[in-house]
Amino acid sequence: MSIDGAYDTENIFAKILREEMPCVKVYEDENTLAFMDVFPQSRGHMLVIHKHEQARNLLDISSCGLKQIMKSVQKLARAANIALSPDGIIITQFNGGPAGQTVYHFHVHIIPKYHGGLKPHAQMGDNGDGMADRDELNMLATQIKSALITD
Ligand code: AMP
Repeated sequence: MSIDGAYDTENIFAKILREEMPCVKVYEDENTLAFMDVFPQSRGHMLVIHKHEQARNLLDISSCGLKQIMKSVQKLARAANIALSPDGIIITQFNGGPAGQTVYHFHVHIIPKYHGGLKPHAQMGDNGDGMADRDELNMLATQIKSALITD
């Protein structure tokens, strides 16, 4: 999919927001939702999305929406740092298929980085067999939630 185009209300994150699909939620406020990536590149890989803006990528989202997302990204990165003690944290996002985007609802990745390499991006396998264990994701989400600092 191109960097330009219309927002598809049937994308998987829109379905998560409408509760038509499950997610392992880590954090939610009035405007943003953070949940565990089910094909994680590392232990504790999370995604942050806007709950109300129908933006496909960074070019579409309002500056206000972006600010709200990045506030949550910082909050969750801090919590992941406390809870999981990674060696570093990668914050990233992709715009358009050729750049690596696979889900067309704007999102920011929070990827804790430990010694060694990362698993490949959005590695879903032929039958979704790259999917993380749900119990493990729930456990990580609980750990990160317990380290959230209120501001
Ligand atoms: P991107 O390729 O930047 O659009 O990222 C999409 C991300 O969503 C990838 O890291 C996928 O592993 C992740 N993903 C796909 N489906 C789901 C899902 N149902 N729940 C959580 N994460 C997902």
